[in-house]
Amino acid sequence: MTIDDAPRDALRGGPRELLRWVATGAAVSRADLSRLSGLSPSTVSQRVEALISQGLLEETGAGRSRGGRRPRQLAVPTGGAVVGAIDLGAHHARVGTLDLSGRVVQARTLPVRIEDGPEAVLGALLTEVAALVHHDPAASAGGSTAGALRGIGIGIPGPVQHATGRVVSPSRMPGWNGFDVAAFCAGRVDVPVIVDNDANLMALGAHRTAHPELDHAVYIKAGTGIGSGVISSGRLHRGAQGSAGDISHCRVVADPAPPCTCGNSGCLEAVASGAALVTALRGQGVPVSDLTGVIRLIDDGDRQATALARQAGRAVGEILAVVVNFFNPQVVAIGGRLADCEPLLASMRATLYERCLPLATQTLLIERVAAGQDVGITGAAHLVIDHVVAAG
Ligand SMILES: [Zn+2]
Repeated sequence: MTIDDAPRDALRGGPRELLRWVATGAAVSRADLSRLSGLSPSTVSQRVEALISQGLLEETGAGRSRGGRRPRQLAVPTGGAVVGAIDLGAHHARVGTLDLSGRVVQARTLPVRIEDGPEAVLGALLTEVAALVHHDPAASAGGSTAGALRGIGIGIPGPVQHATGRVVSPSRMPGWNGFDVAAFCAGRVDVPVIVDNDANLMALGAHRTAHPELDHAVYIKAGTGIGSGVISSGRLHRGAQGSAGDISHCRVVADPAPPCTCGNSGCLEAVASGAALVTALRGQGVPVSDLTGVIRLIDDGDRQATALARQAGRAVGEILAVVVNFFNPQVVAIGGRLADCEPLLASMRATLYERCLPLATQTLLIERVAAGQDVGITGAAHLVIDHVVAAG
């Protein structure tokens, strides 16, 4: 083992990892877990018993016998317990219930007016989660949905101080600055509520879905705003306060440097976010009202919109090149509504290769986040599941 391997290796066989191996089908028995983790059968048994008593694992009869006693099979319970998840965006929220393995059971998209303020928006979304739990086939498997909800994960489209669950100086969320999302929700539901920013939820959801085997990854969320989430040594890296990965106000080369909502100018968000593209096109006299309109213009091959998308891709690539040189990830994935914008992606990729050390890009995967519209709620559910496991 090298020193670099140490952080991940120390986690090997932890309760979260045991649960994940069972949830993904990599392990169906204690013997499998022992083989995968390298832990002794008695240590594995101890951890499995703890997970069973928390209701996070169950034993489902007998597996295949290789002579002697037939081994009992392990599974993540599919009934009687669910996790609630909210992925809040500027205009829409994805709300869902997921089972304890992180699979979506029910999900729906609701229109949201973020400017209505946190009490109104979060109040309505918590009511929606309660309604979903009430009608959830997995939650009601035991005959009643009472006590089935194990926690709620919430993603906010702005900076969140992770330890407190407080929103700090968000760009386009009037009335939300300093709002304690965790405390507000804790006053309304009696289950753990975990709050994080939307880019971290996307990173966690995409990593667990597509690349759980990779230790180092960067996920860019490019929609109305722009941000990123970082997976380091297999875990979400939040930094000291929770702002790690927030690339929105990194300065890029732009002439003229457009003013940013933060008071500076030339920030990545002011050049390359969906909101910036809308503003820039309007400034050129193009009557476009939102990001959907911009994407439509790009898809139609509009010259002005395409040029702006290329410029945005270069700006993202410049910042990402610094990140890749510094952090040396195995994969960089782009998600959010701008991820399907081909001219943006092409110029981002070209800039990245141009500006990065060959050693950093030699085996680097550059791809789209493939997990679709449920990636945020999947990440939210994993936040809660990890919390429940850690608290047990
Ligand atoms: Zn800024």
